[in-house]
Amino acid sequence: TARERQQLKEVTDLAAEHFRALLWQDEGRAARAYLATRGVSEETAQAFGLGWAAQSWSLLADKLTRAGMVEWGVKAGLAQRRQNADGYYDFFRSRLMVPIRAPEGRPIAFGGRLVGAEEGPKYLNSKESRLYNKSETLYGMDQARDEIRRRKSAILVEGYFDCIGLHQVGVRHAVALCSTALTPGHLQLLHRGEARELVLLLDGDQAGLNAVERLAGPLLAAGASTRVALLPQGDDPDTFARREGMEGVERLLQGAQPLTAHLFSSVLPEGGRASFEEKMAAIERLRPMAAQIPMGLVRSAFLNAVGAHFSLPVGDLEGALRPKAPPKP
Ligand code: ATP
Ligand code: MN
Ligand code: MN
Ligand code: MN
Repeated sequence: TARERQQLKEVTDLAAEHFRALLWQDEGRAARAYLATRGVSEETAQAFGLGWAAQSWSLLADKLTRAGMVEWGVKAGLAQRRQNADGYYDFFRSRLMVPIRAPEGRPIAFGGRLVGAEEGPKYLNSKESRLYNKSETLYGMDQARDEIRRRKSAILVEGYFDCIGLHQVGVRHAVALCSTALTPGHLQLLHRGEARELVLLLDGDQAGLNAVERLAGPLLAAGASTRVALLPQGDDPDTFARREGMEGVERLLQGAQPLTAHLFSSVLPEGGRASFEEKMAAIERLRPMAAQIPMGLVRSAFLNAVGAHFSLPVGDLEGALRPKAPPKP
């Protein structure tokens, strides 16, 4: 309901301000030192509204309780009810807090990165709520909106800090997925933001290569104009941007390959000269992606391109790359 959304907005605003303020107080000293080691400037930290969730068990929860909002804090994934005692404790502790904001700039959720020697997963993310739907949210959209519209292009990265690092060196049309799969909702958001083209900028490791194959299905299905830029082994966009600066990133973007060309050469580097077995294995790798492309011009064009790269008759590819289940109408 409208009231529920309003309450969630209020509690999320309050938390964002709580985390932000802590970062710049004594309590946030270690987190500021951590940001410095990552090369994140104070200006960047302010622009992205970064914050600090204290080591304490219930600093935010207590504040929310005093404000009579703690149950809303639970709904927003900020606080949890204690199991064997009264009261509530904080969901995010000892974490550098990255507010996830709506395109208009309002915080709707958080990603929290572990700092220091604490135990736990490297990142914790807010659960979804009536305010936060991660399949319709791109991290950094609020900061990237103008530059995307100006360039008619967007860069998609995997991590919050990849996005932040790119912005800091002046590459301001970068957005990140919030630990989730790419959806038509994300593509719509980019389309509404006037991105005519998307560049995937992925980690230069096996995970980054796998990510291309994971992202390709929805992109091909939507017929989205996409290119792929691969970073050197061991880099992610954040480390690369910090070392090579804006010029390095622009060079990489200029060399980005169209998605299909990238896919074909990664599943079948030798192309038509590959062996029969290699071709069949590559077809199997393409199937989950091809399966998502609905019948029509995009699908025919895709099959034609496969035929050309694989030196296989296009007429047989429709059968070979048919989805196991029938495509949605
Ligand atoms: P950092 O630079 O802070 O070490 P990263 O962004 O380079 O982090 P990766 O390991 O490359 O981290 O992961 C990319 C993204 O995947 C993260 O930004 C985060 O959104 C998500 N992610 C990583 N680890 C986890 C986790 N344990 N739980 C949930 N999401 C995660
Ligand atoms: Mn990675
Ligand atoms: Mn990183
Ligand atoms: Mn990374």
